[in-house]
Amino acid sequence: MITSSRIQNLHPYVPGEQPKDRVYIKLNANENPYPPSKKVQKAVMDFVQNNPEKLGLYPDPDSLELHAAIAAMLNKSGGVLCRAKCNGDEVQPADEDKIPFTVTPDMIYTGNGSDEVLSFVFYAFFDSSKKFVMPQFTYSFYPVYAGYYNIPMDQVPLKEDWSLDVDEMLKRAGNNGGGIIFANPNAPTSLGLTREQVRQMIKKASPDEIFIVDEAYVDFGGESCIPLLAEFKNLVIVRTFSKSLCGAGQRLGYIVSSPELVNIVTTVKNSVNHFPIDAVAQVSGTAACRDVPYYVETSRKVVEEREKFYNFLKEKGFYVLKSQTNFLFAKHPEIGGDDLYQKVKQQGLLIRHFATPGIEDFVRITIGTAEQMSELKNAIEGILRG
Ligand code: PMP
Repeated sequence: MITSSRIQNLHPYVPGEQPKDRVYIKLNANENPYPPSKKVQKAVMDFVQNNPEKLGLYPDPDSLELHAAIAAMLNKSGGVLCRAKCNGDEVQPADEDKIPFTVTPDMIYTGNGSDEVLSFVFYAFFDSSKKFVMPQFTYSFYPVYAGYYNIPMDQVPLKEDWSLDVDEMLKRAGNNGGGIIFANPNAPTSLGLTREQVRQMIKKASPDEIFIVDEAYVDFGGESCIPLLAEFKNLVIVRTFSKSLCGAGQRLGYIVSSPELVNIVTTVKNSVNHFPIDAVAQVSGTAACRDVPYYVETSRKVVEEREKFYNFLKEKGFYVLKSQTNFLFAKHPEIGGDDLYQKVKQQGLLIRHFATPGIEDFVRITIGTAEQMSELKNAIEGILRG
């Protein structure tokens, strides 16, 4: 054998398809349909034009300006963009989202997409001698990391209404210190736990049990757990620029946690790649965080389209979960998930189907612009008419 034995444990993640053969309307990877703000576009153009020599130099390994900008954005928005209150350039959190302390730059860690951040989090906090706990249907990259790092996992079934079974997750964790991870709101189900539910969960667990909460979609209407950092030292929150900050192409994800846990992940990073955030991503990410009103507006537009499409699917007889994200998870009593996905694809639109047993009847539909959703509506109406 010329390969390492570790290779046997690798079962790589399969992302939403990115076909090159034809131009599709892409509603299959939970990307944001809106471009980054004009201020981001200008910041990148100015950087490349005015500082070309910086492209030949290593970037700031600690992304200090970016971390300060992320912390400021969270303080302004309360960590849930669609609910933040804007008055011109002034932004304030909704009352229910106010963070009862100031998020400081040393509470932020950034990585090359939250996928990389999550990978380092698995390395830093989960152990190959103890099972970590996660929901049965959740972000399908978590089991991939488990294989990569050879960490045993315990997958807890969802409740009948597709929500996370908080009690069972805690019971299975059994205070063995193996750790718990879940996405909140969860993917692909789109349902969220309240902050109080998460709070009660962490309160009941041992302080040695690490809780990783993946808030990739929280800006579209979930409840952020950032305020809980005042209370718990065993909490790591992972977030991303790929969804509400219209930046999947720039590959930026981040952690909000205590400076101590941020330092631990930084040690992992510095043992793998000292410079994961390139100079252009540092500039574009910083500019995005300084233009919160634009992203409040785009998040609200996505939420508005989501609610309209939810109603449309219901009218057409679909079973649809009440989403707090930028996607809908739905199934129809008369047409299978794969069938619907294939037929929609023939009409030039991509949605996501998972062949995973238990959720194979569902499709996951990313919310696009009003025009894109209207195209999908027409396609689905045609398919259902036969
Ligand atoms: N967490 C969840 C729950 C996701 O759905 C995704 C997107 N596929 C990610 C993390 C990763 O996002 P990114 O690497 O683009 O930041």
